[in-house]
Amino acid sequence: MNYKVFDGHNDTLLNIYQQQLGKERSFFEESIYGHVDFPRARRSLFSGGFFAIFPPPTAELMVPDPEDHLTEDGYDVPLPSEADPEACRKVTQDMIDLLYDWEKESNGQFNVVKDASSLEESLLQGQIAAVLHFEGAEAIDRDLKNLETFYQQGLRSLGLVWSRPNAFATGVPYRFPSTPDIGEGLTEAGRDLVRKCNELGIMIDTSHLNEKGFWDVVNESNAPIIATHSNAHALSPISRNLTDDQITAIAKSKGVVGVTYSVNMLRSDGKMSTDTSLQKIIDHIKYIADLVGVDHVALGSDFDGTTIPDAMKGVTGMPELVQLLKENGFSSSDLNKITHGNWLRVLKETWI
Ligand SMILES: [Zn+2]
Repeated sequence: MNYKVFDGHNDTLLNIYQQQLGKERSFFEESIYGHVDFPRARRSLFSGGFFAIFPPPTAELMVPDPEDHLTEDGYDVPLPSEADPEACRKVTQDMIDLLYDWEKESNGQFNVVKDASSLEESLLQGQIAAVLHFEGAEAIDRDLKNLETFYQQGLRSLGLVWSRPNAFATGVPYRFPSTPDIGEGLTEAGRDLVRKCNELGIMIDTSHLNEKGFWDVVNESNAPIIATHSNAHALSPISRNLTDDQITAIAKSKGVVGVTYSVNMLRSDGKMSTDTSLQKIIDHIKYIADLVGVDHVALGSDFDGTTIPDAMKGVTGMPELVQLLKENGFSSSDLNKITHGNWLRVLKETWI
């Protein structure tokens, strides 16, 4: 089985940057902690993906625990307040530096890719390709002055928000059951940011955006619409998941949805239970493929950023997941698209 997995979202940088969170592990030594490190990735089909920078990594800004915010029929986690842009810029620069340290240390086995041909070459050579992604635009100046500097440093993908507000947009709070239609859409600065990203060829990620913000991106952007780590709301009615209309709009733009392994976004009861079968991941992939076609669904694990099924273990669960996709009737052409081809197509179309 030779499928290469290019994955829509991981928080491995954050995990290793924030030593307490990552239990002081290093990227190049195999650990029993976390989901991804270089040795485990190499033997588990993992050929790269979007490496997120999520600032600032302080304890109160970790993904909140829904168990602390229970309601009668689910949970409602309040939106954290805006993060300090200055602190975010510092942490962002630190994590960019860390990513390039890994590239240096890897002896050509781990590449920070900035164009489609180096991404293709990295996949072909069986190396690991990292796309520098920001999960939230806090580090970007409201007047966008430093966006080009980040672009020069390798930024090629940007999520406007994490689940909190910033100068550009508002993230959707974690609420179950709930539609994603909570709060206001993009600010004027947010719309400027979308246009500037189009100009530079930076991919825009709509995961974590509320629904009004999502539609604002659809109206403003001339690139394929992407959700790097979101699932089908029809199967798991949490505010973070995508409605059928949103998935249809993504497909219409020739974009893609990366299905995440976050248990509360997989399960129909929204629970943070790790006793969740791998079949649930397949069910979301199948649902999206049936709704809009196999060209518009890919993987977006959220490794090292969330609670995943025990059965997945971490990146070492990838071969089993691919095998299960096969058993569920996906052809080898489908599998090539889902595991990496769709991401590659979208990046080729978006990057300039
Ligand atoms: Zn996320």
